Amino acid sequence: MRMAFPIKTCVVCDEEFELKPDKPGFANRCPECSAPDASDPVEKRRMDALERQTAAEANEARRQAMRELLYRKDS
Ligand SMILES: [Zn+2]
Repeated sequence: MRMAFPIKTCVVCDEEFELKPDKPGFANRCPECSAPDASDPVEKRRMDALERQTAAEANEARRQAMRELLYRKDS
C-alpha cells in the first residue's frame, strides 16, 4: 500500500499534486512548476547564492566569536 501524501493545488498551473516530503521546490507548486528551468528568474538564483554566502559568513563570525570567548576564558 502506498503512502498517502497531502493533495495540494499548484498555484501556478492549478493542477493537483501530492506534496511529498522530499519534493524539491515550493510546497504550493507541482513538481513541473517547481522544476528549475530557464524561465527561473536569474535574480532569485543570485539571491539564493547570496543568502548562502551570508549564512556562511554569519557562521564564520559566530565561530570566531566563540573562539575569542574561549581564549579569553583560558587567559
Ligand atoms: Zn503546476
